Amino acid sequence: MTKIVNHWIGGKTVEGASGTYGPVTDPATGEVTAKVAFASVEEVDAAVAAAKDAFATWRHSSLAQRTSILFKFRALLDAHRDEIARLITAEHGKVHSDALGEVARGLEIVDLACGINVQLKGELSTQVATRVDVAAIRQPLGVVAGITPFNFPAMVPMWMFPIAIACGNTFVLKPSEKDPSASIRLAELLAEAGLPDGVFNVVQGDKVAVDRLLEHPDVQAISFVGSTPIARHIHATASAHGKRVQALGGAKNHMLVLPDADLDAAADAAVSAAYGSAGERCMAISAVVAVGSIGDELVEKIRERAEKIKIGPGDDPASEMGPLITKEHRDRVASYVTNAASEGAEVVLDGTGYTVEGYENGHWIGISLLDKVPTTSKAYQDEIFGPVLCVLRVDTYEEGVALINASPFGNGTAIFTRDGGAARRFQLEVEAGMVGVNVPIPVPVGYHSFGGWKDSLFGDHHIYGNDGTHFYTRGKVITSRWPDPSETPAGVDLGFPRNH
Ligand code: NAD
Repeated sequence: MTKIVNHWIGGKTVEGASGTYGPVTDPATGEVTAKVAFASVEEVDAAVAAAKDAFATWRHSSLAQRTSILFKFRALLDAHRDEIARLITAEHGKVHSDALGEVARGLEIVDLACGINVQLKGELSTQVATRVDVAAIRQPLGVVAGITPFNFPAMVPMWMFPIAIACGNTFVLKPSEKDPSASIRLAELLAEAGLPDGVFNVVQGDKVAVDRLLEHPDVQAISFVGSTPIARHIHATASAHGKRVQALGGAKNHMLVLPDADLDAAADAAVSAAYGSAGERCMAISAVVAVGSIGDELVEKIRERAEKIKIGPGDDPASEMGPLITKEHRDRVASYVTNAASEGAEVVLDGTGYTVEGYENGHWIGISLLDKVPTTSKAYQDEIFGPVLCVLRVDTYEEGVALINASPFGNGTAIFTRDGGAARRFQLEVEAGMVGVNVPIPVPVGYHSFGGWKDSLFGDHHIYGNDGTHFYTRGKVITSRWPDPSETPAGVDLGFPRNH
């Protein structure tokens, strides 16, 4: 019997009633392993209604109650790391160690949420005028929703919901339809940790479910992570419906390698960051910019390392890189490599046509390395989201920074150098939200915040860290005066209140 991935509404599994389902595929075998229910407008409404009901009580729960549930959830998550990682590998395809890394980075945000009492501390100014005090507090918004991508089916939801619910909101998650099982396991663990019914809900589905969340009058805020065209749609539509929105989009992350860099370390970093998770990371390095005369040596060092990567099913401990998410995506990625030469690039490694013995129907592609890639080519301009690394050549640091800053994306970027002055200059001059200095994937820790610039993020807030708390709460400032009983009332005064 085919496994069915259903919704989670009001603290329990709710079977899909729309009659519409999507396939869930094991990318290593190409086999359909489950079907996922696609929510109708009515089913989304039921999830929002459950969240709204739960908010009436949850908003008044004490910080001690909330954090005690989150601490229990953290312990359960820790105990179930391996199981969740296996669910991710089975539907996403990434190798087990990578999936474990994803769970660990999600757990960091749960850690942050366990300390929400510190983050939510208000402010108090006493005696701002005679016997007048001012307090500033932050309160939850209500029902908030998260819409997440396929490439981190556990971590990206955990960038959102732990902070949202810790702040006193209730949450509706619409995970990717391509790998939906992890979301349900997280919901079960939250319930086991004692989270009241309706505080966390999951609706599975596609555009129908997303668009209903964007328009629903009872949804106060939308957090989105996914591709740039959809992020733009989410930001425009949800904003037009009066909601607070943070919409994180796609990327083309550059790594600038200066002539004085340790080229072995730079090549190791480029290969790890370009081909890890088969390039299906928004923080993957997809463009190396080689400055000056080091280009040939750097490309050779990258080629030597990249050729040795072991490609195979994610549940085989020997595999370093798994398959791509779908056959269609694999074919799209391959088309960039096939067209690269006619676009003016030199094809150093061509991964198209690669297959793994015994897994011939998997969504495989090998390693591709393109050199001297023109900025006019599609291979450079588009987010390929696969194991294809483009190398570009420039003569100077200034030319390199100008090239990076001309990209419409501004998610992450890195510089490799031994020159502290150049690195400092790069930090200040480069137009991207996250910068690495001799660190290729500068994903900030949970207590900082994550987010890009330009077409990589629409909205004002980065995700998690202090920005997360700010996004999921709104400010309230209370001015109070407690007159001394012996005081003579000041009488009527129609002038604008002045402090004295
Ligand atoms: P996607 O944009 O196709 O899908 C993301 C979510 O939006 C999914 O839940 C999907 O069901 C929904 N969706 C898809 N099409 C829609 C439509 N037309 N209308 C409404 N909703 C729609 O992204 P993906 O392929 O799942 O994920 C890969 C992308 O996500 C890459 O571009 C990657 O860079 C990006 N990403 C960005 C970050 C970041 O932090 N900036 C992190 C992870 C992934």
